[in-house]
Amino acid sequence: MPGVRALLAGTSTLCALLALGAATGGTERSAGAAHGPFDAQFTGRTLRADIVHVGDAGRETVGFERWRLEGPWPGPRRALTVASPRGEYLAELVAPSGTLLYSTSFSGIFAEWQTTAEAAAGRVRAFPASVRVPEPRRPARLRLSRRGEDGRFSVLLEIPWAPDDPAVDRRPVATVGEVVPLRVTGTPSERFDLLIAGEGYTAAGRDKLLADARRLVDAWLSVEPMAGLADRIDVRVLFVPAGRRGVTDPRRDRWRASPFGCAYGSLGSDRYVLTLDDRRLRELAAQAPYDALVLLLDERKYGGGGIYGLWATVAADTAPAAYVFVHELGHSIAGLADEYYLSSVAYDNLPPVTREPVEPNVTALIDGRPKWADLVAESTPIPTPWNKDAFDRLVRGFEERRRAITEAGGDDDAMEALFAEQARRTGELLAREPFRDVVGAFEGAAYRTRGLWRPALDCLMFRRGATGFCPVCRRAIESELRRYF
Ligand SMILES: [Zn+2]
Repeated sequence: MPGVRALLAGTSTLCALLALGAATGGTERSAGAAHGPFDAQFTGRTLRADIVHVGDAGRETVGFERWRLEGPWPGPRRALTVASPRGEYLAELVAPSGTLLYSTSFSGIFAEWQTTAEAAAGRVRAFPASVRVPEPRRPARLRLSRRGEDGRFSVLLEIPWAPDDPAVDRRPVATVGEVVPLRVTGTPSERFDLLIAGEGYTAAGRDKLLADARRLVDAWLSVEPMAGLADRIDVRVLFVPAGRRGVTDPRRDRWRASPFGCAYGSLGSDRYVLTLDDRRLRELAAQAPYDALVLLLDERKYGGGGIYGLWATVAADTAPAAYVFVHELGHSIAGLADEYYLSSVAYDNLPPVTREPVEPNVTALIDGRPKWADLVAESTPIPTPWNKDAFDRLVRGFEERRRAITEAGGDDDAMEALFAEQARRTGELLAREPFRDVVGAFEGAAYRTRGLWRPALDCLMFRRGATGFCPVCRRAIESELRRYF
């Protein structure tokens, strides 16, 4: 289950299950180089393959639904292939000669669902999804592969593409709502384009959406590596008015026909927000160029989510919304793992980690060295000592109180006060650590108290209250962003 993540310290057994997956995978694959300049191979438009994942906990079949032509291609034009896929899936456009034209890696809701109790109980379910690629000028095929337990990819499906195929859906993208440029300084082919889709905002909430988006984007762009690359990052807002404010929350028996179909309680986790309606989401989003997508919820209840290469969700009206926004984009843009490891369930009984996790910011120290060894000073011991016992005691105390609030009905103000106190007190504790400012390997990461290590004592992937990403996460995000400009 690399690269994904429900956020949010500890909402369910989902996190424990995800941790199992985080330990698998790992071998990297050289995807080869693209040949010829972009324009010789591609039309400059975006081609979307609509697919459906079907299966149970252990099996997966992917069915092809249709090709759909969207608008201009906003994505990479030089870095056309990924050398080290970070996601659960790898999609490759291959010419009849076998030449690799384009590749991209991502994770998805189906793969995450496979780790849930529902899947373990034997259910079979179907999840629509899609893959966006540049439209090839000549016949090609799209090869979709899934990462196996050994980390290697095996092919699930190959879809032929022919430019003159009459079955390709070429209808114009319908205009619904409004696309508002929030900060646009260049053309999409020269920028990393972030699209913020307002979800659950009514017609009267348009100004609030723009203000929420501006506030959260400002926070995101104030953090490195985004701050240093801000002149290459463009942001647009998609406003599709909702009939009523907010999104569906089954546990509070609140139901909404919101534009993108988002709901709390996704995959059995109360504060995890996803939409399962990929078709509607993609058709609405296709009105704007985008390399990354955030669904911003007009919601007071803490929540969100982020899946690598898919999109992120963030509730706008919570005190830690800026943290959630930055953290979830770390998942969805860069495939970062959660670095936290304590939450409402204990994970001490997980099997040992035997493979290096695929995520760039956690290591199993299989050969004694972290994958970020080039950033570690010689004077820093590996593993790097820290007062983990005191930190764990403190956090477990907060988790107890959090459970009590949840069981009493989940009061939003009480929860946020607790989060703020936890951020302050864990920060005070970490500030006393001798290795607080170095890159090393600190035990405790990705829902595991033992057997996985994170790069630094503190990071936005580790803790609410952290002031920035650790150097390893910064580098991983920057390498993703730079593919686009
Ligand atoms: Zn980090």
